[in-house]
Amino acid sequence: MTKTEIIKGKVKTVFTTSEPDKVLIQYEDKVTAGNGEKELLIEDKGKVCCEISKILFEKVKQRGIPNHYLDTFPVSIMSCKKVEIIPLEVVVRNVAAGSIVRQTTIEKGSEFKWPLVEYFLKDDSKNDPLLTQDRIIQMGYNMEDVGEMEIMAREVNLLIQNIFDEIGLTLVDIKFEFGYDVNKKLLLADELSPDGMRIWKDGKSFDKDLFRNDEGDLMVAYRYILEELKRVTK
Ligand code: 5GP
Repeated sequence: MTKTEIIKGKVKTVFTTSEPDKVLIQYEDKVTAGNGEKELLIEDKGKVCCEISKILFEKVKQRGIPNHYLDTFPVSIMSCKKVEIIPLEVVVRNVAAGSIVRQTTIEKGSEFKWPLVEYFLKDDSKNDPLLTQDRIIQMGYNMEDVGEMEIMAREVNLLIQNIFDEIGLTLVDIKFEFGYDVNKKLLLADELSPDGMRIWKDGKSFDKDLFRNDEGDLMVAYRYILEELKRVTK
């Protein structure tokens, strides 16, 4: 298959294919933090994240939630519907951690009975700022689509939270990205890997925070998550 690179992201590369409505997404053996300020090459990380993402997207698909996932190829390549990514990061928080703790008086570990949904601008040059509803409207977004993103984000958060509960892990928060396909249909896009989630095991980080804060071996956590997901989703 001929493929042409179109976007080189921090940890994924997107290629076009001979089919205009499809792309290939390659998960790289790389981890970054702090808008790319901290970076490390880690063998097999791409493969593990791709497999986790595949398992979770298949669950999302079974639920009938519109998404870009089509198939995976060996090794660490996913075939997806081509979408125009909306430059908004939709974060759902079940437990307080990260920026909400740094920026407010909410204490780390506080549980939210009704998960919070927050929107950030996807723009590294502006440090991905938190947005308000008025700012989103002024930026020209259709609030109906924003509402639809919130509904899908809440549904997928609950789905993944329940799967993680089964394997003794807490889904603290999760970041989603959406896009429009060639027919202008809104789809859940990007990846569903621990790179975009906070996961705690017995109250301790079991995700990219291990790398962000030099707290332990990220691959031990990611491999464990993959093996447990395989076990419960067989
Ligand atoms: P926070 O706003 O607390 O920094 O992040 C909330 C959640 O969104 C965390 O799970 C974090 O990993 C994820 N997240 C926020 N920004 C990004 C980003 O630019 N890339 C990725 N992969 N995840 C992000």
